[in-house]
Amino acid sequence: MALKVLKFGGTSVGSPEALRLAVAIIRAELPRGGVVVVSALSGTTDQILKAVAAAGQGDTNTALELLAAIKVRHHTAADRLAIARPVESAWAPLFDRLQSLLEGMGLLWETSPRAKDAALAIGETLCVHLLAALLQAEGVPARMQDAREVIHTDARHGRAQPQVELIRAACQDWQPLLAQGICIVTQGFIGSAPDGSTTTLGRGGSDTSATLIGEALDADEVQIWTDVDGVLTADPSLVAKARPIPVMTLREAAALSAFGAKVLHADSLAPVERGRFKLVVANTHRPEASRTEILASVSEPPSGIITSVAYKEGLVCLHFPPARDLDAVFQAASDLQDAGAVRYGLLSTPEGSLLVVRPEHADAVALLVRLEGTGVRIERGWSSVALVGEGLRQYPGGALALLATLEKETIGGIFAGGAGISVAFLVPDERLRELIPRLHRLCIEEA
Ligand code: ADP
Ligand code: ASP
Ligand code: MG
Repeated sequence: MALKVLKFGGTSVGSPEALRLAVAIIRAELPRGGVVVVSALSGTTDQILKAVAAAGQGDTNTALELLAAIKVRHHTAADRLAIARPVESAWAPLFDRLQSLLEGMGLLWETSPRAKDAALAIGETLCVHLLAALLQAEGVPARMQDAREVIHTDARHGRAQPQVELIRAACQDWQPLLAQGICIVTQGFIGSAPDGSTTTLGRGGSDTSATLIGEALDADEVQIWTDVDGVLTADPSLVAKARPIPVMTLREAAALSAFGAKVLHADSLAPVERGRFKLVVANTHRPEASRTEILASVSEPPSGIITSVAYKEGLVCLHFPPARDLDAVFQAASDLQDAGAVRYGLLSTPEGSLLVVRPEHADAVALLVRLEGTGVRIERGWSSVALVGEGLRQYPGGALALLATLEKETIGGIFAGGAGISVAFLVPDERLRELIPRLHRLCIEEA
């Protein structure tokens, strides 16, 4: 039987109205059951992180005020959906646990990545109970299953790596439920370490939870329901004229997300590559609007050279002096990655080497400071701009023509992607807001 996994992001469940839309989509897409992955109500993860930060500074009062706001938001949603009775008994121990965790951190003035993950998981779990109760109230045979039973990861709290074989084996326990036509509702973003403690996959990681489950259950399709009409030609918050891309290749989607487009978590495409299922991105608020299908290959030749533009701010450049071997460069790249930095580029010429990273963890920030004292020149405040498109394989010169239009700009480095479908370059952070719409106009609107 064809199996689908549907994932609803925070904005898709951010209000009672949005939750009702999600239920209608689940009814239409999963008439004979399937899997629904849902992340925390929009803003909840940020609120929990703020509460944890306050507790870590000994400010338990602020942490508990934030907890009170989270409670009010959830109770109001349940009241408005008329499902307060079934969810409140499930929520009470979760709110108590979040309170104990915050009080514990507040007493110790300390927050470990492990404790932070335990707190974050509560936001995700609250929302799963809400959606499962709403589905049940609407007569859908829904059942909550805890994602930690199946999403096995390593022990890197805050940026855990999935253990694909263990996930596949564990997901088989869900097959009997699916065979009965049940709609399994589970958390995104969280998993469990080998010692049983809760882990998280990195911000935005619930896309990856959905594709990992899709891979493990040999799904035919995974649908990412969000707040835009599919993958767009650029981030709509910077480019008002960004438009939906109806079909794109897996390689393009992977490049786009790796270069920072938030619509898909950067790790979410590897399971699609392995599992070879269709990935769809659609808008919960406008299900009838256009959507994006991401396919392993597309038979039609690309209509233009560039399909989309992505960017990421807050990058750091490490300049290494010329050396016969690159051991120091590779060692720094690997140490930074272990410390929680994401690598955006690595370039070596006889003039020296350039490593570009985004430190996404305090350990990586600290390591950069240490490296600075060892002869590596470090520059902060760069952004990467990536032009992505299958057309670049055929016409790599097209990107050079675009770059020529930037002649008066400060460019920190130019990288041609390994798969041949992206060209990325570095610009100072403050130039981004003007450059992205300009490049979009040149390579997409006027192409
Ligand atoms: P969700 O909560 O559903 O996971 P996210 O906020 O993580 O949603 O991702 C959707 C957002 O990604 C959009 O609202 C949009 O602002 C941003 N975005 C950035 N680049 C793109 C792009 N190329 N196409 C679509 N959305 C993009
Ligand atoms: N709720 C988590 C976050 O805000 C996971 C996700 O949205 O995918 O990062
Ligand atoms: Mg997201």
